[in-house]
Amino acid sequence: MSAPDVLGRDYLEVRNLTVEFDGFKAVDGVDLTLLQGRLHFLIGPNGAGKTTVVDALTGLVPATGMARYRDHDLLTSKSHQIVRAGIGRTFQTATVFERLSVLQNLDIAGGIHRKAWRMPFARRATPDYVEHALETIGLADQRDRPAGVLAHGQKQWLEIGMLLVQDAKVMFLDETVAGMSHEERDATGELLRRIGSERTTVVIEHDMDFVRNFADVVTVMHAGKVLAEGTLAEIQSDERVQDVYLGRAATAMEGIA
Ligand code: ADP
Ligand code: MG
Repeated sequence: MSAPDVLGRDYLEVRNLTVEFDGFKAVDGVDLTLLQGRLHFLIGPNGAGKTTVVDALTGLVPATGMARYRDHDLLTSKSHQIVRAGIGRTFQTATVFERLSVLQNLDIAGGIHRKAWRMPFARRATPDYVEHALETIGLADQRDRPAGVLAHGQKQWLEIGMLLVQDAKVMFLDETVAGMSHEERDATGELLRRIGSERTTVVIEHDMDFVRNFADVVTVMHAGKVLAEGTLAEIQSDERVQDVYLGRAATAMEGIA
């Protein structure tokens, strides 16, 4: 077995991650250890640097420091290499192809692992892994509908399905449940639990009920830095966390302090 941590789990390790935009440190010396099988939540006020951390780890912005997953040095890899290494993400705005069917969206997303010569054969039947993803995200009965007509929550689940067919072992979900109904949030949390045991899942989220119901570990970011990390109970009792949220975003953190 190659290089797992002491618990024998896969993990993604980030040390002193720093991203500068014109001298402004949007991410400033962030350390994270993201373990397989846990639902990690990344929270913090708008502008804290959460999305920029994910951008840095997925090859979209240059960064300094260290970020490693298995044998991959993420900070020197190109974004397509990072996807092939098993690291996937969603974006704050949905990126499904609205005119294509649910099935076509999944098939295209799965194409990154398919050899070009196999493409014509793959079209004859729905590949097993696409079928499996459809079932997992609960959209099997929507397979032939254009993605554009799906409900908001279903579109987000389709995006998660697109990560599943890419065989993402690490999933960054950037505000995936924003705008969802209560029922959709719960369904999403249950979905993440189902698929999360063999993956490393990082959820950027504002809704504290959702965090409370589903987070195993919570990291609080503020002004580019990690302010606190632990269980929800641990960060709730952290005075620095209370100060940030009472001072800057009391409503977003309703009930936490
Ligand atoms: P969050 O996701 O926590 O709301 P972001 O990571 O989007 O925060 O942004 C962190 C900070 O970096 C913000 O001040 C934002 O304006 C700034 N920022 C993000 N992307 C860029 C960019 N491409 N160029 C300049 N500044 C940026
Ligand atoms: Mg963001």
